[in-house]
Amino acid sequence: MPTTSPKSQHVLVLNCGSSSLKFAIIDANTGHEIISGLAERLGATTPSIKYKFNGAKTVINLVAGQAHAEAIDTLVSLIKDHSLDEQLIAVGHRVVHGGEHFTQSVLIDEKVIAGITQAATLAPLHGHANLLGIASAQASFEGLPQIAVFDTAFHQTMNEVAYLYALPYKLYTEFGVRRYGFHGTSHFYVAGQTAKLLNQPIEQSNFISAHLGNGCSVCAIKNGKSVDTSMGLTPLEGLMMGTRSGDIDPGLFNFLTTQLDYTAQQIDNLLNQKSGLLGISELSNDCRTIEEAAVAGNKKAILALDMFCYRLSKQIAAYMVPLQRLDAIIFTGGIGENSDIIREKVISLLAFLGLDCDQKANLNARFGQEGIISSSQARSKAVVMPTNEEWVIALDAANIAKEL
Ligand code: AMP
Repeated sequence: MPTTSPKSQHVLVLNCGSSSLKFAIIDANTGHEIISGLAERLGATTPSIKYKFNGAKTVINLVAGQAHAEAIDTLVSLIKDHSLDEQLIAVGHRVVHGGEHFTQSVLIDEKVIAGITQAATLAPLHGHANLLGIASAQASFEGLPQIAVFDTAFHQTMNEVAYLYALPYKLYTEFGVRRYGFHGTSHFYVAGQTAKLLNQPIEQSNFISAHLGNGCSVCAIKNGKSVDTSMGLTPLEGLMMGTRSGDIDPGLFNFLTTQLDYTAQQIDNLLNQKSGLLGISELSNDCRTIEEAAVAGNKKAILALDMFCYRLSKQIAAYMVPLQRLDAIIFTGGIGENSDIIREKVISLLAFLGLDCDQKANLNARFGQEGIISSSQARSKAVVMPTNEEWVIALDAANIAKEL
């Protein structure tokens, strides 16, 4: 990744979800994780913190009802107990929604908090958790620069033809209703790494990156910049995901409310929690479980995988309109980095784009291993590139802190 300096630059990276907090201390120079962990079930009856340090895994049980502030307090003690605070130069926060205001990472001050608060109206659950994380970290790490890194920022290069919905224009100008896109940090990182792997300048690279994890999105990257992406106003739009439906006919809302008496909250829950791979397989949202069931002949599991690949391939093909020329498709995220089955299926559906799949390379590119999985004759390459959003956050935070 980008510029490095010889001195170690330890950054605490915080990723606050509504009931969880992912954390890591990363050396921005190398990407090395000094400590990493997850606080989960925050605010519920059995909150806990799991962390990995020096190869050992430890679990700390929190008191019932304890939430982000207490989890961060415990984290601070943990960091101090291991004397990890002495080398910390900054705290980097993953912020899900930056609206139109934030096109790059920024040092957090009162104006930035106001901007994040405003953007949080577009993604209340995530936004509220991000703000809580920032407030707690500011209280606990007084004097350390706090930097916000936005999931939406990379996509701010899209033009209005790509980001507007065909709705009354005032919904955009007055309320900010438009496509923002997410997973920006991941798409940015894997595109940069793929350009290096293919030995071509990122400024002249046309890629389609597919971030396939529990959440899934595709991004069309032209000359290194995001020109379109499948997630929209919220991370619900686009691809079929673990529990999210992705694209549906908006007419469904009327049907569900008038015919089945659904409330807005129930619809939201249906589309976000009960759909996607889980909804179709009626088995699991976990791709591994579904793949195992499909191999054993489970028809709904086979259907779920077929739909997942079909919809993903259709979206990738659509991005040939803005790109015109494709250098490579990139697979990343838990599924993209590990599922040779899904990669092979998608590549075969997209063979008309000049893609092919080298079976051996495809099988080898797993468990954090990057690689080109197409043959040397392929007109467009297929690449597996493990993502590392935490490192990008650490780097941005370190670079901003350095300038202070
Ligand atoms: P993430 O949100 O990036 O952690 O990705 C989670 C998804 O990756 C889940 O659906 C997992 O089942 C999937 N995944 C992880 N490892 C594998 C694997 N070896 N094969 C297939 N899917 C996997």
